[in-house]
Amino acid sequence: MTSVSILGSTGSIGLQTLEVIDAEPERFSVAALSAATSIDQLIAQAKKYRPQLVIVAHERDVQRVQQELPSGCEVACGIDGLVAASALADVTVNAIVGFAGLPVTIATLKAGKRLALANKESLITASPVVERVRRTAGASLLPVDSEHCAIFQCLGASHGKDAQVARLILTASGGPFRGRDAASLEGVTIADALQHPTWSMGPKITVDSSTLMNKGLEVIEAHALFGTPYDQIDVVVHPQSIVHSMVEFTDGTTIAQLSLPDMRLPIGYALSYPDRLQTPFGGLDLLSSSTLTFEPPDRSLFRCLDLAYAAGRLGGAAPAWLSAANEVAVEEFLAGRLEWAQISDVVSSTMDRYVADPLDTVEAVYEADAHSRSAARSVVAGMRRTND
Ligand code: NDP
Ligand code: MG
Repeated sequence: MTSVSILGSTGSIGLQTLEVIDAEPERFSVAALSAATSIDQLIAQAKKYRPQLVIVAHERDVQRVQQELPSGCEVACGIDGLVAASALADVTVNAIVGFAGLPVTIATLKAGKRLALANKESLITASPVVERVRRTAGASLLPVDSEHCAIFQCLGASHGKDAQVARLILTASGGPFRGRDAASLEGVTIADALQHPTWSMGPKITVDSSTLMNKGLEVIEAHALFGTPYDQIDVVVHPQSIVHSMVEFTDGTTIAQLSLPDMRLPIGYALSYPDRLQTPFGGLDLLSSSTLTFEPPDRSLFRCLDLAYAAGRLGGAAPAWLSAANEVAVEEFLAGRLEWAQISDVVSSTMDRYVADPLDTVEAVYEADAHSRSAARSVVAGMRRTND
């Protein structure tokens, strides 16, 4: 039996992780659950799965959750609670959204446990630090992001044999605005941006998919996970989301991973590796599936992709700045205070203020995040003054 802590259990990845566990209950048990605002849902989950530990983000919720939990189930709060949960189980699924997921990534690897990583932001912002803690005895990092799970599978016996890999090819659905021109993107609404054609995900990553920032973050994620140089990481748009990514080898072979777009497959893979689930999430009927097409991304319209490549190549604290600036811009957009087309402007202007800075401690990561957020907020304020 594999025990699993699911941090961010009320979100899209968290809920799908619980579906995987429901499908194979003889194989997995739940050790810890966490949420930030969805407290009723968290209590209901705790009653069903009876974990040892439940973590809330805010002190104000502790007492209420404590009163409603079944016996044997403890409540903890904030970062300390997340850190305790990360050391508890055989596998920790980091399903928190954004920079708030950083303590889980660090603590799980430091505890020498398996990290099933959906929270790409923590790896992107802190990759030099993550690289170090990944070497802890017993620690392992299994990507949940579908593209990286695909690459992990395609690498197969070539894991660690960098000289055999010609390039990684990340696929992108293209998001809801694929094929549009600049004029038709003026004034697109929040609802338009949240209308993803192939995946059903939380709001932040759905907006990131609409700007192609998600793919940019994934390029940095691929570099951090597999050590592949940026010149050997390419992006192709594949609107059907059936091919989840590919590895091209030096002998001309390209290996791809195919399945229907269903996150339960990569989640289950990360939980059960090196075995596989017995439940075929995302199983494919090739005879009834549509044609598979591939096209280049529109880099001039979806500028976030190249902003991410640039930050990745700069290294140091630049990816942390990029990710924090993007979080600020997406929050402002989702709050109705920024136009969709201004998201890339905020990221670009914030990155103009970045001064090369190394990043080798967790404290430096928090500092870089704070500096970038403050720069991004002043960029947004400047834009608002110009708009008024
Ligand atoms: P959701 O917004 O659906 O869920 C986020 C989860 O994190 C919720 O449980 C939420 O709790 C919790 N949370 C939010 N803020 C905080 C905080 N400050 N402290 C602690 N917990 C917090 O996001 P997704 O599930 O879509 O995405 C999660 C991560 O997985 C992201 O990094 C995303 O990029 C990545 N990912 C997601 C995919 C998907 O298909 N959804 C695919 C690939 C990667 P509450 O509900 O209480 O607010
Ligand atoms: Mg992805």
